[in-house]
Amino acid sequence: MSPVTHGLLSWLLGNAPRDTTRRERVVVTAGGLIPDVDGLGAVPDVLTRALGVDPPTQLFSAWHHELHGLPFALVAAGGLGALVPCGRRARATALVLLAFHLHLLCDLVGARGPDDYAWPLPYLAPLSQAVLLEWSGQWALNAWPNFAITGAALAATVALALRRGRTFVECVSLRADAAVVAALRRRLGRGAPSPAPGAEGSPGPDPTPSPDPTPSEEAAP
Ligand SMILES: [Zn+2]
Repeated sequence: MSPVTHGLLSWLLGNAPRDTTRRERVVVTAGGLIPDVDGLGAVPDVLTRALGVDPPTQLFSAWHHELHGLPFALVAAGGLGALVPCGRRARATALVLLAFHLHLLCDLVGARGPDDYAWPLPYLAPLSQAVLLEWSGQWALNAWPNFAITGAALAATVALALRRGRTFVECVSLRADAAVVAALRRRLGRGAPSPAPGAEGSPGPDPTPSPDPTPSEEAAP
């Protein structure tokens, strides 16, 4: 599936426990995106073709999905989990593992290429190619179920914005996130944010979005 869908779903997963901190949610979101790092070879492939390099690199076809497996999942979970303070690390690491595997599941069911190639997942790569995961019912990358899943994830994100006062934009900027939340609440006619757990560093209310462009509207009951 698209990185946007992977990012939305993993951010939502990071919100499943009500008391996750922003750092934990960012880490879990990264865990759901990181398998596609093995597709970055597409960049030099495009560049070398555009520049007329002969032969152009073939890094995408050689490497894409080589990190969509258990070995890299364990490395990513260990590395990303280490970014979370000690007392909360075990759960964050488990959520990263889960987000990583949610990414694999999404690719398994809905990432058939335009050439009808299923991009099977070598689950033990790059250590071994012995286990290839593939599903005969896999739909295309641009098929309607992917749009439906993305739409449902966006709807859940809006619901979280209204209820808990945050969106996935918090992964990039708290200030931008506050603006998005305020705009959604204005548009959807909702009042002040309810206190929600999730502040950076410790459980408890999220940091008040700051600056709030329309504090008076946020203060409505
Ligand atoms: Zn992927």
